[in-house]
Amino acid sequence: STSAVFRNEDFIIRSTIPDIVVPKTRFIDRLWADSAGYKNLVALESAETKKTYTYAQVEKNTSVFATSLLKKFGLKPGDVVAVMLPNCPEFPVVAFGSFQAGCVLTTVNPIYKEFELKHQITITEPKLFITIPECHDIVSKSLKAANIQAKIVLVDNPNKPVPDGVVRYSEVAESGEADFGLLDKVERKGDDVACIPFSSGTTGLPKGVEITFDNILAGMEVMHQKENCFPHVANSDFQDILPAFLPFFHIYGLVIGLMGHLSKGCKLVTMAKFSASMYLDILKTQQTTLLYIVPPVAILLGKHPDVNETHYRSVRHIICGAAPLAGSDVEAILQKSKRPIEFNQGFGMTETTSLGTSTFKGTKNVDFNACGVPMASVQLMFADPITGKPVPVGQSGEMYIKSPTVMKGYHKNPKATEETMTKDGFFKTGDMGYFKPGAGLFITDRIKELIKVKGMQVAPAELESLLRTHPAVQDAAVIGVPHEFYGEAPKAFIIRKNGLKITEEELQDFVASKVAVYKKIEEVMFVDEIPKTASGKILRKELKKMYA
Ligand code: AMP
Repeated sequence: STSAVFRNEDFIIRSTIPDIVVPKTRFIDRLWADSAGYKNLVALESAETKKTYTYAQVEKNTSVFATSLLKKFGLKPGDVVAVMLPNCPEFPVVAFGSFQAGCVLTTVNPIYKEFELKHQITITEPKLFITIPECHDIVSKSLKAANIQAKIVLVDNPNKPVPDGVVRYSEVAESGEADFGLLDKVERKGDDVACIPFSSGTTGLPKGVEITFDNILAGMEVMHQKENCFPHVANSDFQDILPAFLPFFHIYGLVIGLMGHLSKGCKLVTMAKFSASMYLDILKTQQTTLLYIVPPVAILLGKHPDVNETHYRSVRHIICGAAPLAGSDVEAILQKSKRPIEFNQGFGMTETTSLGTSTFKGTKNVDFNACGVPMASVQLMFADPITGKPVPVGQSGEMYIKSPTVMKGYHKNPKATEETMTKDGFFKTGDMGYFKPGAGLFITDRIKELIKVKGMQVAPAELESLLRTHPAVQDAAVIGVPHEFYGEAPKAFIIRKNGLKITEEELQDFVASKVAVYKKIEEVMFVDEIPKTASGKILRKELKKMYA
């Protein structure tokens, strides 16, 4: 059975699937452990350039890149490598190569502007930066502003010149030989940090999330269990094909998309940017079998007039996560397909290496609003958000998670780490919900500040600190308001400085010029007061009530 069990005396919900054992191997060995049978299959294809790479090529380029990190650039295990790339076939080479060299990868959204990038590199201090020519300017400006010396590598067009002092990706990953004598000497412990994606957690600015090698190995182990929801297969006569638009810089795309599927022989069709027409074109022209999506794409697939059964002709499985999903949107999708498709919803977070709960293979999914049951080795608990006292199974509370995939902590931020972990090792999600025996997990509310726009994180504190730098703004508060397609969108409450005039549009333009486009302020309300605690913390619930 794949239902969850619980003992009511300790209020903990456990999976009935056997616990995973974290293998005592290097990441790179586990990654390619099963690959002997599919070395010559295509691993990655770019939807834009149509360029393809076989498994053998990805494996080789990864080791060549890892060798370059150590030999050419003189990096040491533990040094930070920043990757700021859109989804492309070169991304996994950079990510896996960094792990193989024992470096720490920090993943940056390629549409970040200087304001956002400077924050991330100030915290992580990368020694090397891999990006595309379009981002070169922002990267060099941000490095300068943060006073960080890092070498820059560009994933380039070999026919175009690169700026002085910049190294081409092709030179350090696609030509030359790997030095396995050197690479085999790299030693990293299981609880060493492998990767630092960013998340704002419960409160405040985006923080570096320390994901260890053991976290990743545990995640891959969960994804490889036959009992679970991840249905990927590849063998000599069948290869799963998936469109890969979920950003690789985000944990969902990195761990579930890239690592989970490239360790299984699937083919990923990378999309640098989501566009409905390109996505639907891939569904039509490729034999796509697995779709990993987020709620806005679920809406698109269900509602778009052009979508019909031809788009689903080889699809057998759809998995959705990252933000709340309406059951009615799932039904709309399933009605469009003539063949049965399995639909699973999952719950995960950056801090849990993207894994958490899911509906499972073969589950008779009566309620598409539910997020399933704990994956192997995951324990759930619900607690009163004020007192932290556990509540009995079935009652509503803040969800806590314990799992071998829970992060080590927030990078260089022990205070934030301490605030978010209980004494017995549960991570406090900041999400409210309950577990209904027989039906699964229901997420009902978010008590943390985080806003999710199209499944992407927007930290109110980041927008507030930016708005407060505007000369006409005395104070600012930002909350998420419901949005028909994005799920949520930011709304700003602004107290103007005495006598100064500023319009909604001017403030929206100001923010838009400084941050990634999905963080744009949807609505501005000018107010006289922002409710706060004595210590200055914004009372967001009050704010909502005051101006509703
Ligand atoms: P991230 O770290 O960007 O993956 O964001 C994690 C947060 O996304 C969670 O704490 C939830 O607030 C939200 N989230 C993820 N999956 C779901 C889901 N299936 N239903 C509702 N909220 C979700």
